[in-house]
Amino acid sequence: MSRPALHEMGVAETLAALADRSVSSLELTRALLDRIAAHAELGAFLHVDSEGALAAALSADQRRAQGDASPLLGLPIAHKDIFVTADQPTTAGSKILAGYRSPFDATVVARLKAAGAISLGKLNCDEFAMGSANENSAYGPVHNPWDTGRVPGGSSGGSAAAVAARLLPAATGTDTGGSIRQPASFTGITGIKPTYGVCSRYGMIAFASSLDQAGPLARSAQDCALLLSAMSGFDERDATSAERPAQDFHARMLDPRPDASPGRPLAGLRIGLPAQFFPDNLDADVARPVLAALAQLQRLGATLIDVQLPRTQLAIPVYYIIAPAEASSNLSRFDGVKFGHRAAHYTDLLDMYKKTRTEGFGAEVKRRIMTGAYVLSHGYYDAYYFQAQKIRRMIADDFQRCFAECDLIAGPVAPSVAWPLGQQTDPVREYLADIFTLPASLAGLPGMSLPAGFGGQGLPVGLQLIANYFQEAQLLHAGHALQQATDWHLQAPPERTASP
Ligand code: GLN
Repeated sequence: MSRPALHEMGVAETLAALADRSVSSLELTRALLDRIAAHAELGAFLHVDSEGALAAALSADQRRAQGDASPLLGLPIAHKDIFVTADQPTTAGSKILAGYRSPFDATVVARLKAAGAISLGKLNCDEFAMGSANENSAYGPVHNPWDTGRVPGGSSGGSAAAVAARLLPAATGTDTGGSIRQPASFTGITGIKPTYGVCSRYGMIAFASSLDQAGPLARSAQDCALLLSAMSGFDERDATSAERPAQDFHARMLDPRPDASPGRPLAGLRIGLPAQFFPDNLDADVARPVLAALAQLQRLGATLIDVQLPRTQLAIPVYYIIAPAEASSNLSRFDGVKFGHRAAHYTDLLDMYKKTRTEGFGAEVKRRIMTGAYVLSHGYYDAYYFQAQKIRRMIADDFQRCFAECDLIAGPVAPSVAWPLGQQTDPVREYLADIFTLPASLAGLPGMSLPAGFGGQGLPVGLQLIANYFQEAQLLHAGHALQQATDWHLQAPPERTASP
């Protein structure tokens, strides 16, 4: 049997090939580094650490020869540039962190390293993870490999584009209001945002601390499960980390359901379809593939039922009050004193702060800091921030009413396919595109994006599945069953050779 090209292998295949020594980590890392260089025009990477990666790959091969069986030993990955890394620079897509080097690794980075994964570099993202198109990066946009004239989604756009273009088998991302799920949907890959608290936020540069969650982007549910098992687990350095025993998501994903029978692995699974996720005016390019994926889940034994999430529309104003409020506080630490950029010329301390922040932050970040400071200010706090917190709780309660009737909730990830680069000039219009991802974020629930086929112009569309707290294994199980029966997740974007 002929072996697939090295870059075509996903996580599970790569780990199997490394384990049976049909491939060495060094050989694989070399091949991927060449491919990354040949696809530099995608703008997916902000930093490539060839030397460090080759040295780590060589050492992984040596460790394997000595009997080391770490779960991800020799697997090449890369990190969204929002995770701090001691041996590579970290910018969070911002000029204000130009030249910054962290003295430590984020917990997620350290855990993946401890599991044997090799980091090839840092991936482009929207500045401080604020955006839905990766056009807010200070270091230029990322191009969608399916159509390089279009956005890859955001804010984990570099992670999604790199995995979709087969530059890497998997990457890390973060999701505050959809930034793993939406770029996964726009680029035809699989991504999971676990329950808030499952992955440590230690060393993940904070945007909106009550919402930020890390997760993997890969080609399949199975590949995501392999990464998530290594990334997750209690961390005493994060006060919001869930005190629960570590889980082997991969093993749990493979556990059959009690009612399963041959051909019906999802028998007994109840999937709720919120009316609000399927409005009459839902774009047919999105509706068609999502409905096809739901029909497939039904054929696999799942039952579809109607549920209500009546406050879905309110998720947008609520999120765009709470997230900027938290951002305005979190980003106050970037003042030119401790981290990264400092203005070259200033008269006194206040002038230094002002010039550093004026020069260092981009337009969207400034907009959010101002919005956040406004909604938290005396006289407006009660009218905006406090109201938003109350509605946030109601949104979480609405989900619990649904989960009394169903096991999973399904809908589209985004109301459209990937849009053309440069098209979105009105920030509020971009905010509206987050409608289907924000509710689960506000409730702190796990959500997943699965490739569901293609809409107009051959662009990928994602199906979103949401589970109750700490039910990631259910999401992965359903996603895996779907992917065993379909080949949407196996479709790769057209190969382009590097421009001359
Ligand atoms: N698009 C949302 C925002 O701009 C979500 C971003 C994210 O999840 N990091 O805030």
